[in-house]
Amino acid sequence: MSAELTRVGIVGAGTMGAGIAQVAAGAGCEVVLYDIAPEIVERGLERIRAGYDRMVARARLTAEGREAALGRIAVVTTLDALATAEIVIEAAPEDATIKRQLFAELERVCTPDAILASNTSSLSITGIAGGLARPGRGVGMHFFNPAPVLPLVEVIGGAATDPATVDTVVALATRWGKTPVRAGDTPGFIVNRIARAFGGEALRIAAEGTATPAEIDRIVRAAGFRMGPFELSDLVGLDVGLAVSRALYEQTFGEPRYRPHPMQARMVAAGHLGRKTGQGFYRYEGGERVADDAVIPFAEVAPLGRPASILIAGQGAAADELALALQGAGQSVSTYSTEESTALVNAGIPRARRLRDVLLTTTVAIEATLGPRELKRAYWFELDEMLPPQIPLLALALGHGATELGSWSARPERVIGLGLAGPFASAPLVELARGERTGEAALTRAVAFLRAVGKEVAVVGDPPGQVLIRILSGLINEAAFALDDRIASAADIDTALKLGLNYPAGPIEWSERLGLDRVVTTLDGLHTYYGEERYRVAPRLRRALLAGYARLG
Ligand code: NAD
Repeated sequence: MSAELTRVGIVGAGTMGAGIAQVAAGAGCEVVLYDIAPEIVERGLERIRAGYDRMVARARLTAEGREAALGRIAVVTTLDALATAEIVIEAAPEDATIKRQLFAELERVCTPDAILASNTSSLSITGIAGGLARPGRGVGMHFFNPAPVLPLVEVIGGAATDPATVDTVVALATRWGKTPVRAGDTPGFIVNRIARAFGGEALRIAAEGTATPAEIDRIVRAAGFRMGPFELSDLVGLDVGLAVSRALYEQTFGEPRYRPHPMQARMVAAGHLGRKTGQGFYRYEGGERVADDAVIPFAEVAPLGRPASILIAGQGAAADELALALQGAGQSVSTYSTEESTALVNAGIPRARRLRDVLLTTTVAIEATLGPRELKRAYWFELDEMLPPQIPLLALALGHGATELGSWSARPERVIGLGLAGPFASAPLVELARGERTGEAALTRAVAFLRAVGKEVAVVGDPPGQVLIRILSGLINEAAFALDDRIASAADIDTALKLGLNYPAGPIEWSERLGLDRVVTTLDGLHTYYGEERYRVAPRLRRALLAGYARLG
């Protein structure tokens, strides 16, 4: 098999088939584009012409280049016309029976060494190619929509695929200017599988009322994502998202991480599919989103006028980072810890010998030990007893819900959960978690304090991990399971999510930015809180933490 394939057949001239044909002919290949009826292939050709026109308008293609590329495309309505193709890429509807039949017919029509590729998003390549007399040439070549724009191509070898077939398709995708990644033949491959955690966890957070879809989108965007999970879901279509979740859930015999959410099913049943129906999580008129008038809680609270006197109680990297960041933000900081930290000593941040001395001036107290519970709680007894009642007590709440933290205090009304996905210094937005008994006065003071140090604030509900780190921990955990299942390399997982979905960082990179201890603490906290297998930590992730690695991989 030659890596320099030049004769390409494409089956299906819809959204994906036309896009792939545009890419292939644009890269110099001779393309034969097939669909079941003349008017359909003509429509496909029109779409390709419009695609090239846009490229000419943006000076990314010359007018001659456009004519030459169009001259390399033949449209046909008989499969026999694909007889000389060296590779056929099938982009027919997502139906296993149709795809298997097409593969059988293609094997009859094409030469024995022609590669037969499927662009399926969610079906098994082993299943589609399994009926071939020569299954070694069957392979997955999964483009992303719009194919001419998005650089990612997942190349999937099935159980019987010849490794040389995978190599040839990887080389071809590269020659077409794409970035191929190799993926195992498991449900959802890389992107559609790992991204379940993004939308799926967000749905649960919204459905249980921890935060509204608009708040969740705001929190996620503040972390650098181009779109929040609900904006993305409205764009893709809730029906499409539900179909993918359902496919993954069924193909894994009920893996709880992929369980579709009833809220999504209800919205699909109501015809609220997103942008295309004018109503999804948001409302659209004439294709434009209608501004919603939902009130953001505590939006009117003004920043504190003078620097706060902050007491950081606790030990570990999170407590140290918080103390340094707040001092850097011009606040007066002292600490209360059983351990001396060199970083804090070097920065001249005083460690209280007697709690009584610092509490006289403290205006905000923060308990910032990451865990475990006994270590965290050890700081509470004295602190809670001696801290004046009107002073809010913020507690790092990754492994514990805000109500549980409140239950450690004689004054639960002043206890607020603090959500911190990564370093405080670089976080534009901080989440505050409200427990069952958290009071408005304490929340108002905490919001005013955070605004004074330049943070946006989101006040959310009780569960551990709040919004951002809960969603990101799900992504990282899913990547760890994918590594354990050997579906892709760590580097390819990050590449796939950045190029396929425009994520600002891949899950492996996130694992380092957040710190494995925060991720595992959050997942363990959620596991205890909900008692659900969905939140079990992937063995690979826990091993990486125990081994002291900086990141998953
Ligand atoms: P589409 O409906 O736009 O196009 C499918 C085309 O297949 C239509 O033109 C239809 O006439 C044709 N067709 C119907 N029956 C056929 C048959 N028996 N033989 C040959 N062609 C037939 O669908 P699409 O969005 O282009 O999706 C095509 C494939 O690509 C699916 O497997 C889908 O899962 C996958 N995919 C879609 C996207 C996406 O975002 N749309 C992204 C990646 C992969």
